[in-house]
Amino acid sequence: MPGKVQCCCSKCGYYDDNGAFRGRKVSRQARAMHEKEDELRKARETTRDNMKESDTEDSDSEQSERAAGPSGSHFNAAEENCRREMTLITHMVAMLGAWLNLAGGGSQTTTGVILKGIAIILMTAFKIISTTLLKPLGLDIDIPLPHTPRDVRSTYNALSIEPTIIRTACCPKCFTLYPLRNDLPDHCPWKESRRAHKVCSASLTMQRRTKNGVVVVPRRQYSTQDFRSWLEFFLNRPGIEEMIAKSYVPPLLS
Ligand SMILES: [Zn+2]
Ligand SMILES: [Zn+2]
Repeated sequence: MPGKVQCCCSKCGYYDDNGAFRGRKVSRQARAMHEKEDELRKARETTRDNMKESDTEDSDSEQSERAAGPSGSHFNAAEENCRREMTLITHMVAMLGAWLNLAGGGSQTTTGVILKGIAIILMTAFKIISTTLLKPLGLDIDIPLPHTPRDVRSTYNALSIEPTIIRTACCPKCFTLYPLRNDLPDHCPWKESRRAHKVCSASLTMQRRTKNGVVVVPRRQYSTQDFRSWLEFFLNRPGIEEMIAKSYVPPLLS
C-alpha cells in the first residue's frame, strides 16, 4: 500500500501472534492525528493526577495544620521568602517618605499622613488579591504585609540615616556649653577666671507651655553631630572603601 505508514498509537497498536508490537497501516495524516490525540490524552491524565496529588496533600496538611507535612514546610518556606522580599517595599516607602520630608517640602505631619495612606493602600491591595484571587484558586494564604514606616522618625530609622546628635544647653551671653540635664543651673555660673568676682549670670532657662503643663527648657541650645558616628557613616558611603584602597601605595621592594 503506497503512502501508508505504520501507526503505533494507543488505538492502532496491537500485538501480533508472535507477541511483537505492531501498528496498523494508515496514511501519514492519520498517524499525525492519532499521535496528537495520544499527546492530548496523556496531558489530560497528567493534570488530573497532579490535581489528585495536591488534593491529598491538602487534606494531609489540614490534618497536620500545615506544620509538619511536605506542603506545610513548602508553604512556610514560601511565606518566609515572601516576607523577606517585602522588606524591599519597606525600603522603597521609607525612601519616598524621607525624600518627601527632606527635599519634597512635605512637613512631618504631611509626610506622616502620606505614609499612613500608603500603608492602608498596600494593606487593601494585598487583601483584595488574597480574597478575590488566591482563595478562589484554593490558596488560603494571607499575604505577609510589609512593615512600612508610619511617620518621619521611623522612616529615618528604617534607612539608618538618623544622625547621632549631641545636644547641649548654651549660654545666650557667653556661649558656655552645659550638658542637657535636670540640674541645669537657672543662671550661667561662668567666670572669666577662677579668681574673678563677676559671674556671667545670664538666664539659661525659660518656661514653655506644653500639653503636659509648663516645663522648664533651656533658653538656647547648641547641637553637634557625634563625630565618631558621622565618620562611620562617611566611610560607609559607596565608593569610599575603593578610593582608600586606591590611595594606598604599597612600599617599594628593595
Ligand atoms: Zn493510530
Ligand atoms: Zn554665660
